[in-house]
Formats: sequence, C-alpha cells, structure tokens
Amino acid sequence: MAEKVFLKAKDVNEIIELKSKYGQKAKVIAGGTDVMVRVNTLVETPDCFLYIGEAGLNYIKEENDNIIIGAATKLNDIIASPLIKKHLPLLVEAVSGMASVAVRNMGTIGGNICNASPAADTVPALLALEASVIIVSKDSQRTVAMKEFFTGPGKTVLNPDEIVKEIIIPKNDNLKWAYKKIGRRKADTLSVISVAVTMNLKDDVCKDAKIALGAVAPTPILALNASALLCDKKVDSLLVDKVANEVEKEIAPIDDQRGSAWYRRRMSKIIVKNLIEQILGKGMK
Ligand SMILES: Cc1cc2nc3c(=O)[nH]c(=O)nc-3n(C[C@H](O)[C@H](O)[C@H](O)COP(=O)(O)OP(=O)(O)OC[C@H]3O[C@@H](n4cnc5c(N)ncnc54)[C@H](O)[C@@H]3O)c2cc1C
Repeated sequence: MAEKVFLKAKDVNEIIELKSKYGQKAKVIAGGTDVMVRVNTLVETPDCFLYIGEAGLNYIKEENDNIIIGAATKLNDIIASPLIKKHLPLLVEAVSGMASVAVRNMGTIGGNICNASPAADTVPALLALEASVIIVSKDSQRTVAMKEFFTGPGKTVLNPDEIVKEIIIPKNDNLKWAYKKIGRRKADTLSVISVAVTMNLKDDVCKDAKIALGAVAPTPILALNASALLCDKKVDSLLVDKVANEVEKEIAPIDDQRGSAWYRRRMSKIIVKNLIEQILGKGMK
C-alpha cells in the first residue's frame, strides 16, 4: 500500500499554497465525517490528505447586512451561536436535525456543502436564505450563489486548486420561515426529503418567497418557478395548491434505499403546502 501523506495547514494562505501545489491529489479534510466513511469503505483512496480543520476557518461574524460563517465551523458551533440564533433561526433548525451530537462536533458546514450530497441538510436552508460561498485559490477569489454551486451529485463548481473559505448569508430579521426534514429514523439519519421555505410578507401580501428542497433531485434545489408564483400575491389555498403542483414539476426524485421517487413526489407537495400554511397561519380561505 502506498504511504499516505497527511498535510496540516496552519492558515488559509497555507491551504491555498498546498492546494495550488497538489491540486486534486490533496483531498481536503475538515471534520472528516464524510471523507473518512468513503476512505474506510474504499470508495475513495486518496494518498494525500490536506487537513483544514485548524486553519482559522472556524468563525461566525456579522459584517454589514450579512452573517459570515467560516467553512470549517463545526455544526454544533452554529447551533450554539447567539448570532445565528438571533438572525438565522432557520439554519439552527436545519442543523439541529442533522446527525448526532458526536458527528456535529466534528462535521463542518463547509464539509456538508462541498460534499455536494443531494441530501445535504444545511443546503435547503442556505438556498432559502439566499446564501453565497466565497471560493479562494492562490490567484483568485470569487463569490458564487449557493444555487449555482452544485453541478451534480458529489459535484460542484470548485476547481482542483480551490476551496470554500466562507459562507455569506444576508440578514433579514423580518423573514418568515418554516422547515421540515423527513428521515427514516427520528435521529442520526440522512434526509429522505427536506424542505425550507422563506417568505417576506407585507400586509398579507407575499413580496418574495423561496422554496428549497433536498434529496429530491441530483442536487439540492431552489424551486424557482414555484417560488415565483407566490411573489406579490395575497396567498390563498388555491394559490398554495398551484405552488405545490409547480414544485412537483421542478423536482426529479429517484428511488433509493431511503425512499421511493413516488413517496418523495407526494411528500414534497404535502410538505410545501404545510410549510406555507404554517408561515401564514392556519386560517386560509
Ligand atoms: C453517522 C452520520 C450521520 C450523518 N448525518 C447527516 C445528516 O443528518 N445530514 C447531513 O446532511 N449529513 C449527515 N452526515 C454527513 C456529514 O456528517 C456532514 O455532511 C458534515 O457536515 C460533513 O462535514 P465534514 O467537515 O466532516 O466534511 P469532510 O468529510 O471533512 O469533507 C466532506 C467533503 O467536502 C470537502 N471539503 C470539506 N471542506 C471543504 C472546503 N472548505 N472547501 C472545499 N472542499 C471541502 C472534502 O474534500 C470532502 O470531499 C452524517 C455523517 C455520519 C457519519
């Protein structure tokens, strides 16, 4: 067996220097809760690991109208953060429903995003909150909207010499939100389906809405057409039915060991309906 190389970066500059030198050969490892499962089952056999968990990317801060989260921030630090609790309660809800305490103590938000699982649980919330990622390499820095980040299952727009440095989420304390994850068990389980909905309401009129879903398409998705149907409308039950039908057209679920495509289609519509009703209160005509 070839000797494994384990590189530990001390800061972001060192991460991008090493990424520039080794590119794809250096497998980034943050918490390792996704990577090590694949390495232990020989799905991936990297010879070189680049550990970024202690390189100063564990932070949560407020800057102008945004909350900025370092990519190597642990999932449990997100749940515990007063800033996130105050400004992004939807993200707290989504992360609290992930895995177990032990996994959340190791796993990071950047790892969840970059692993690019269709069922990544932070992503529907981040899509509905209109998050972006800051991507860095030795020679460049770019901002990519979360909705443009994924290109397929396990695939992203990241080039071999790039990493995600941080996640930027606009603050909007007036945003109404609702979230639902269905797993096969109550705890410590990946999503069969997850849905996050945000709405900006003014005097009974929905000015803007975002409906995002996980585990129902090759990547987590923002249901753009369904979301658009809600904009600048007074929402009644007829419109909610229309939106739920539109969601069904925008998803492309598959059968897998966690659930059937049929179940996912059916539940997507029901959950979206329930979440919109939850946001608006039950008294819709
Ligand atoms: C028992 C168990 C239960 C789980 N339950 C859930 C669950 O309920 N919901 C869920 O969504 N996930 C779940 N997971 C998956 C995993 O814990 C999460 O996806 C976690 O957030 C991954 O973070 P990490 O830091 O451990 O990623 P790592 O394993 O370190 O990395 C994951 C991938 O991202 C890349 N990467 C990491 N950071 C960066 C970066 N900054 N820039 C570029 N690439 C990067 C790595 O190279 C790798 O390809 C579970 C895992 C286990 C083992």
